[in-house]
Amino acid sequence: MNIAFFGLGNMGLPMALNLVKAGHRVVGRDLSPKAQENFVREGGFGADSIPKVLEGAEAVISMLPSGEAAKELYLGEGGILEHGGAGPDGVLIDCSTIAAMDAVEIAEKALSHGFDMIDAPVSGGVAGAKSATLTFIVGGEAKGLEKARKALSLMGKNIFHVGGAGAGQVAKICNNMLLATHMIGTAEALNLGAKHGLDPLILSEMMKQSSGDNWSLQQYNPYPGVMAGVPATRDYEGGFGTNLMLKDLNLAMEAAKRAKARTPLGKRAKELYESHAQDFGGLDFSSILKSIDKDEKK
Ligand code: NAD
Repeated sequence: MNIAFFGLGNMGLPMALNLVKAGHRVVGRDLSPKAQENFVREGGFGADSIPKVLEGAEAVISMLPSGEAAKELYLGEGGILEHGGAGPDGVLIDCSTIAAMDAVEIAEKALSHGFDMIDAPVSGGVAGAKSATLTFIVGGEAKGLEKARKALSLMGKNIFHVGGAGAGQVAKICNNMLLATHMIGTAEALNLGAKHGLDPLILSEMMKQSSGDNWSLQQYNPYPGVMAGVPATRDYEGGFGTNLMLKDLNLAMEAAKRAKARTPLGKRAKELYESHAQDFGGLDFSSILKSIDKDEKK
């Protein structure tokens, strides 16, 4: 397949390289020349303009930082839609995490140009992008997904079709709002136990076999020294950044407001991450334990 790939950052680069490794011809573009060079060094093709990247493309994939960036790339002057996308037989796949209403706007305009488009944000982080084990959470028509399925399956191991345009974005932020709340709850419980002199390792093992069990305890323990290979054991470097979690919580709050849905814990999680990000925005999101591990004011 000929694939055009936009956005070769922390996530996009390993995703695009998995397509290259599978034998596809991938032409990539990033606004950062360094990011684009990294891709070319590892076997991809680079091009310096949108029309050149799109030449002969059967699928267009984007992995961008924000809704503004995605709207500019697809809908802006000289953007993807104006240059014919992946043609009427191809498919447009936006894997960025953006507001659902932005995803709907882009997909509707793509459709009005005669192009199939899906939103396909991911879960699994940089590690999942590298090991091609991402979960794709897809919104859009089944026809678009079927055209995209082959490429998605080379970058991930799970594909969930959750609804029409924008639904992938809604489902993704539901998941991340839940992740934020169980991470905070896990950090609070471990910190409380440790302050009473309990061993956080024994406490974690007990809770994993009890009703407090959850993904943060199982896979991503926030207490330093409890679990090998997680950010907590390397001063919270790498992993899923606090700033990215805050971005997703802001998107969740926007979505909640639009649907008039009550999300009291999501709201509190956003406040806690907002304050945590002031000092620790660059650290992994499990570093929330650092903000919790401050003596409670009287
Ligand atoms: P990143 O900042 O590392 O990469 C984004 C890249 O897009 C940058 O290199 C930037 O130069 C490039 N870019 C911006 N506008 C562009 C344009 N018009 N054309 C070409 N390139 C452009 O971000 P990331 O960590 O790779 O995240 C990408 C997306 O994936 C975000 O929406 C993020 O929320 C989501 N996400 C990230 C993670 C993670 O762990 N990093 C996990 C799940 C989802």
